[in-house]
Amino acid sequence: MSLQNVITLQLLLTHLYVLIPVCDNDKHYWVGSHEVEKLLEKGKDWLQMHPARELITLRYLKHQRYLVNEALETLLIDEAVDDETEEEIIPEQKVRLHDVRIERVKQELLQSGVKTVVDLGCGEGKLLKLLLAEKQFEQILGMDISYRSLEIAKDKLKIERLPPGKKERIKLVQGSLNYRDKRIEGFEGAALVEVIEHLDEPRLASLERVVFEFAKPQFVVVTTPNAEYNIKFANYKEGKMRHSDHRFEWTRKQFEEWGNRIAGKHKYSVTLHAIGETDDEVGALSQMALFTLLKEG
Ligand code: SAH
Repeated sequence: MSLQNVITLQLLLTHLYVLIPVCDNDKHYWVGSHEVEKLLEKGKDWLQMHPARELITLRYLKHQRYLVNEALETLLIDEAVDDETEEEIIPEQKVRLHDVRIERVKQELLQSGVKTVVDLGCGEGKLLKLLLAEKQFEQILGMDISYRSLEIAKDKLKIERLPPGKKERIKLVQGSLNYRDKRIEGFEGAALVEVIEHLDEPRLASLERVVFEFAKPQFVVVTTPNAEYNIKFANYKEGKMRHSDHRFEWTRKQFEEWGNRIAGKHKYSVTLHAIGETDDEVGALSQMALFTLLKEG
């Protein structure tokens, strides 16, 4: 077989690094989750567009289904989610609403008194930046499935250049909210800002267990759009969601029912709140649920 292309040596090497073990399919050695990270790092400029990306991923990760799914999920989600177009149908509101939202989430976390926080689905790290500026938060972890978003977050937070006292307080990890993960356990507070609506039903069900049953922080903030408000947008079309990757958008009642169910099942109390501009009839642009773990006994 012969292949021809004109590319930089660096790009060629990232191909070879991945494709040599893929073509030499007999070697068997232990692969763990760090191999997923290596694959995504080496393949970041080309694997997503590669026509044989499934086969390459399968072979590189020695057919370990769990790892293969994790890697493919990341590749495919990166394809679907473009964070810059979040809330694409309300461009004039975009910046303001998101700023209002993360400021509010920060305030709630401060008031709750938590000292350690995990931002689940942290995206490009806008909330992390606000949290890092508050001394109350001694340990901050940002977790996201998207490698690309984490790279942007790392850049925006200037993690490498932070003074030592700050640098030790923050960490970013790649991971999926669909699997139990020890790294997100043991935090007092957690935030899920505009994340749940990106997951389809079976995945949302696993997220619920991962967060409320296993990680079980004392205080959890969840935000999601309020679907009722969509009718107010100039370019409103029935059924059209605010972002092409949203799997659902809930009314206030649906969010409340979800919150009550989760709280009842996992022993939390829950309160619901409006965020952003509010209309008498359809409610606010965005909505937030605050979960507080009930004390034993
Ligand atoms: N919280 C951020 C980003 C919201 S966009 C903000 O408010 O700016 C939704 C984020 O959830 C994306 O960064 C996406 O990569 C992440 N995400 C989607 N599914 C995920 C999963 N299963 N596990 C972890 N993160 C996920």
